[in-house]
Amino acid sequence: MSGPHFERVALIGIGLIGSSLARVLRRDKLAGEIVACARQAATRAKVLELGIADRATANAAEAVRDADLVVLATPLSAYAAIGAEIAPALRSGAIVTDVGSVKQAVIRDLRPSLPAHVHFIPGHPVAGTEHSGPEAGFAELFRDRWCILTPLADTDPPALARLTALWEQAGMRVVTMDPEHHDKVLAMTSHLPHVIAYTIVGTATDLEDSLKSEVIKFSAGGFRDFTRIAGSDPVMWRDIFLNNREAVLEMLQRFSEDLTALQRAIRWGEGDRLEELFSRTRAIRRSIIEAKQA
Ligand code: NAP
Repeated sequence: MSGPHFERVALIGIGLIGSSLARVLRRDKLAGEIVACARQAATRAKVLELGIADRATANAAEAVRDADLVVLATPLSAYAAIGAEIAPALRSGAIVTDVGSVKQAVIRDLRPSLPAHVHFIPGHPVAGTEHSGPEAGFAELFRDRWCILTPLADTDPPALARLTALWEQAGMRVVTMDPEHHDKVLAMTSHLPHVIAYTIVGTATDLEDSLKSEVIKFSAGGFRDFTRIAGSDPVMWRDIFLNNREAVLEMLQRFSEDLTALQRAIRWGEGDRLEELFSRTRAIRRSIIEAKQA
């Protein structure tokens, strides 16, 4: 198989994203050894049973020892403590990356503890489902999706090229981006839709019981699509909102202004305005389908 080769890969966190990457590493024989780190014995047992890691440990420092690639794939709130724990055990020249959905906060939490002798390259494979855990992963998850890397000013070009080659081997198209820009783009394309979905589903669950059962029965009218997004992992999403506060609040402000305008158009019977908006949004949907991102 082509693609980069790593002697030892440490996956700190091996849920949906970490285990999908492990499956790619296995499928394409990109790693001499895969070491998984997870807190729960049940997660570690599952990973070994699935055969997607050679070893599993609860100790992050032990996991990264002698690894030439370290990938953090836990919820964001664990990053700072993991960074401090692994720092003394990191091998010189190792690439340390992550898959977190927010990038400025990751740099804030990890960079201070990482030694100068490693290559720290934050990353975000923009691919996922609403499922969690090592059983939920699959190697094809990344195919034809975008991976955003946010290298720092002093990032080593060969290390960046190796990491890029890894995600490309997983089937991704890789771009580099400024972390602040990443956080704004994702606030719009991912975080705001989750705010909206969590709100709609929350509103429905607050309805009186009789109406609530009808909501579930007739959910195919649109509600069901929101429940898929609102069914995403609560801890992961708590962490995303807490760590991308500014950009999410900015997009939410814009959204609520547009919502007020829409409310007004409905109130005043401005059909032309509604039709014009819905035609524009339909065109966006079509361009997403054409870009094969649907
Ligand atoms: P997940 O399926 O819930 O998996 C999280 C993994 O991390 C589990 O293996 C969990 O196992 C482990 N873990 C949690 N806390 C830990 C700690 N303190 N130390 C070591 N292991 C720990 O989560 P995911 O969906 O893969 O998301 C992981 C990261 O990817 C998040 O930062 C998220 O922002 C990002 N991301 C997610 C998606 C998506 O759609 N899901 C897409 C792109 C990026 P134990 O509970 O046994 O510790």
